[in-house]
Amino acid sequence: MQASNSFHLSQPNATGTEDFPAEVFRLAVEQAAIAIAITDLRAKIIYVNPSFARITGYSQQELLGQNQSLLSYKVTPKTVYQALWDCLEKQESWSGLLVNRRKDGSRYLADLTITPVLNSAGETTHYLGMQRDVTELHQLEKQISNQQRLMESALDATQAAMVMLDDTGQPLLTNRSYQDLAERLQQDPLPLLIQALQRETPDGFDLPRALRQGFAETEIQLPSRQELPLWLNASGEVIEVKDTSADAYYAKTTRPTLLITLQDISYLKHQQNQLQMTSLQALLAEQDRLQSVREALLGAVFHLERPLNLVNAALRLVGRRDRDENPALLGLLAEVQEAGQEALEQLTRSVPDTSQEARQSVNLNQLIKNTLSLMTPRLLASGVELDWQPQSDLPSIEGRPTALVNLFKQLLDNAVDALVEGRCQQREIRLITRQVTDMVEVIIEDTGHGISAADQFRVFEPFYTSRMPGSGHLGMGLTLAQEIVNNHQGLLEIDPDYVDGCRLKVLLPYV
Ligand code: FAD
Repeated sequence: MQASNSFHLSQPNATGTEDFPAEVFRLAVEQAAIAIAITDLRAKIIYVNPSFARITGYSQQELLGQNQSLLSYKVTPKTVYQALWDCLEKQESWSGLLVNRRKDGSRYLADLTITPVLNSAGETTHYLGMQRDVTELHQLEKQISNQQRLMESALDATQAAMVMLDDTGQPLLTNRSYQDLAERLQQDPLPLLIQALQRETPDGFDLPRALRQGFAETEIQLPSRQELPLWLNASGEVIEVKDTSADAYYAKTTRPTLLITLQDISYLKHQQNQLQMTSLQALLAEQDRLQSVREALLGAVFHLERPLNLVNAALRLVGRRDRDENPALLGLLAEVQEAGQEALEQLTRSVPDTSQEARQSVNLNQLIKNTLSLMTPRLLASGVELDWQPQSDLPSIEGRPTALVNLFKQLLDNAVDALVEGRCQQREIRLITRQVTDMVEVIIEDTGHGISAADQFRVFEPFYTSRMPGSGHLGMGLTLAQEIVNNHQGLLEIDPDYVDGCRLKVLLPYV
């Protein structure tokens, strides 16, 4: 409800109305589509136009001489009438909504404006009332607000967190689960959400593109203070909404909004990870077993080759010099050589193959994290402090996951061994992942005894070990690590300039 200026009966001729025929004024009021009434100062009706009669259901004759309170349906609070009269007494217009009753008893909502009519002396002589029936409009408004409330309750009832973004990326609407998420994260989830989508979407997250085509279900991880990492399944749907600005009234333009739905899949993911870890553990145990058999057999082949070479040499020597003098020795040597060669071939054949798993896209951060989880008991038992520095937006590589887990487990096992054997006071392993031009680099540093300059090439040779005999190490670990890196077209290097222990670098090309 609002107040404004009053209407003067005979204004100075600033607008030229004095020359205007009074009959036109009368006809205009008479034919106006809006309901018009003129009353005396006590609200007794002196004039009503046909529209007034049509809205109220009374005839013009029935209304003349009646008080406007005839229309009052007594549910409008007294204070509203009080405010109305207070305004009129101050010679100000009043506008507001009143519940009116028609002649037939039915009610309607009147949007009413009353203006005091002042004479040339500035005294109020009449009141001019103009009203229209806004019942339908009010019903529509209520329907819309009811629908909105229903929609909000439905959104609040869903377990998925939802946020609707406008075309500038500002949130237009959030549901209760989204607000719970904000409480859980103790910060606005939106920037974290966008960062995570940037990381997980192959070409990065682009709001204008998402506002055109939405985005498919994407698994994202948000940093959480809780024990379990927070995993969400995010999807984006474009919803076109009508532009409500005045400019767009006739143009009927729409604006895209993006409804992002977030399903909490943390528990599912946790279970999946545990299952993955268990099968990885079983796979690694099997590979370890195979590896030991391979190493033992290859060791046997390696150690058999030397005496067999000697027998071959002796056979050639006796064959050249004593062929006729000592045919029995020659025959014996030939027999030994043949038996030895056969044993060697049999041993070589029984060395188990390393199975080649299929290449796939591998997130090295996740893979190393899994490897570290597998190694946690050993790291804890050895009192090793781990400094894990993964690059958050590391590109994925094409690789063989189990072989790569084996590779990093081998290198980390070596680092732990070096720290334990060296009885180091400070037992630290630093693990860094980072992107270097078109490669992903993994750095493994330990504070152990390091590898001497003389050994830096030999450690990659098969069956070379700097450890004590009987330590259980055959010297095949780095050879196999090198083989896995070679199979991935990568590089494995020992940093010759590192003096505080050992620094190994694994470089693997990314897709
Ligand atoms: P009260 O408000 O208690 O009033 C009793 C009588 O005194 C009524 O005749 C009232 O008109 C008059 N009155 C009250 N206060 C004053 C005052 N300060 N100065 C002079 N007279 C006063 N009401 C509606 O419900 N519906 C309408 O469509 C409507 N249209 C109106 C149009 C005009 C141009 C005017 C001036 C008033 C209109 N009113 C309308 C207000 C109406 O006059 C009553 O105030 C209202 O209906 C409350 O009625 P009531 O029976 O509770 O009486």
